[in-house]
Amino acid sequence: MSGLKLANVKKSFGSVEVIKGVDLDIADKEFVVFVGPSGCGKSTLLRMIAGLEQITGGDLYIGDSRMNEVDPSRRGIAMVFQTYALYPHMSVRENMGFALKFAGRPKAEIEQRVAEAARILELEPLLERRPGQLSGGQRQRVAIGRAIVRHPDVFLFDEPLSNLDAELRVHMRIELARLHKELNTTIIYVTHDQVEAMTLADKIVVLRDGRIEQVGSPLELYDDPDNIFVAGFIGSPK
Ligand code: ADP
Ligand code: MG
Repeated sequence: MSGLKLANVKKSFGSVEVIKGVDLDIADKEFVVFVGPSGCGKSTLLRMIAGLEQITGGDLYIGDSRMNEVDPSRRGIAMVFQTYALYPHMSVRENMGFALKFAGRPKAEIEQRVAEAARILELEPLLERRPGQLSGGQRQRVAIGRAIVRHPDVFLFDEPLSNLDAELRVHMRIELARLHKELNTTIIYVTHDQVEAMTLADKIVVLRDGRIEQVGSPLELYDDPDNIFVAGFIGSPK
């Protein structure tokens, strides 16, 4: 079970509150997309879910377990960042296996998981290459591969396509939809691209200034936005 529950989750940096009480239920295997303007708190929310940032108020549950103080490595979560941050001196194979090696997993298991991720992401012909010998889209797939090998219950993506050109974004969008079906996991995905949100999401969460403005399916938000702000983000004038 890998549903999530956020109950009045808050975050302050010093005296500045940037997440101002977020309540949200995410079902097991749901594809949830966070949208909202720059600075509204999308990355901070993801980082709190991942355990990379401490929660300063409220509660986070994954499955039935309260996770506020649980170490990131024990949350069953893997995060894919906007900047792929691959190790330039390692091959694709080594990049994908590194976290498992670091965690002391047996060699055979690492090999098997890397092979599986390479198959899913169609990276098999590229396993011996270095990141410098890959295109942007290929690098992004390696970054996703590093998350897949960990067999997480929940994937977090923070604007993973924003460094790619328009054509590649369309291609990767289709790949991500396929990936969600194949992996059969919960995904929380941050983007400021409305088309990405509309096409990928089971549920869209519109954020504004540290709060949820509206939650709904793409169709609900498109047909019935609560206000001009949501309409502006989803692309249908009210
Ligand atoms: P988004 O991802 O939606 O663009 P962020 O979550 O990165 O927004 O940031 C939300 C707010 O929190 C911003 O005002 C940002 O300046 C602030 N913030 C983020 N990280 C820190 C930090 N480490 N220290 C202080 N303020 C931060
Ligand atoms: Mg961000």
